[in-house]
Amino acid sequence: WFRQDRLPHIYCTGCGNGTVINCTLNAVNSMGWTPENTVFVSGIGCSSRAPGYIVTDSLHTTHGRAIPFATGVKLSRPDLHVVVFTGDGDLAAIGGNHFIHACRRNIDLTVVCMNNYIYGMTGGQGSPCTPLGAVSTTTPYGCNEPPFDLAALAVAAGANHVARWTSYHVKELTKAVRDGLETPGFSLIEAVVQCPTGYGRKNKLREAGAMVGWMRDHAVLRQRWQRMQEAGEPLPPGAFPVGEFVRRNLPATGVPK
Ligand code: SF4
Repeated sequence: WFRQDRLPHIYCTGCGNGTVINCTLNAVNSMGWTPENTVFVSGIGCSSRAPGYIVTDSLHTTHGRAIPFATGVKLSRPDLHVVVFTGDGDLAAIGGNHFIHACRRNIDLTVVCMNNYIYGMTGGQGSPCTPLGAVSTTTPYGCNEPPFDLAALAVAAGANHVARWTSYHVKELTKAVRDGLETPGFSLIEAVVQCPTGYGRKNKLREAGAMVGWMRDHAVLRQRWQRMQEAGEPLPPGAFPVGEFVRRNLPATGVPK
């Protein structure tokens, strides 16, 4: 599935994106899909470079617009399998409106979002998923806005299958993507990834291993729910710890599988 002629890749040493791409391709391969019947679509950002390394027809589109392009492919060629690679800025900021409405419409797409909590490629600006207090180029004194919970947002907007893992959880992430590919309708697989250059350098997690450990043990969203659970407080609707998933069995809207 990899295009050898595009190597070496441009990802920083220790970046988690390669792991997520590998998990996704293993899941696609396990479905028996081929480069002839599978299309990868992306927007802009580090995560969105992914289709350029894959041997198949792919669309590397404009910032935030991967889902509209992918919707167009699926509607015009419902026989093709369509997978979107995106990042937290691409999906939840510029493409936020497309994201929630694609969930609501239950378009038959599988979206793999590499969430590194920051805009990596464009210089480390804060994204809608930057945790409270985290430092970025645009939040030098710490982010003072609450982040989106992407998985909970997708569930609330009507997505058929939603899962969240990290690049540390290779087997679980691969299975979650596979489950998403099998599920008709809209699937979001949120893959939290380490970004030692962008997020890590600004937040004292420079080494990739340090950020992986932080993701695994101290992911902000997970911490929040764990603290509430430990305090015996009821979790709010949409509370979505790492590793949990929601699957509905709604038919995909207007698009035969
Ligand atoms: Fe990976 Fe971050 Fe480097 Fe982008 S900036 S390639 S997300 S480590």
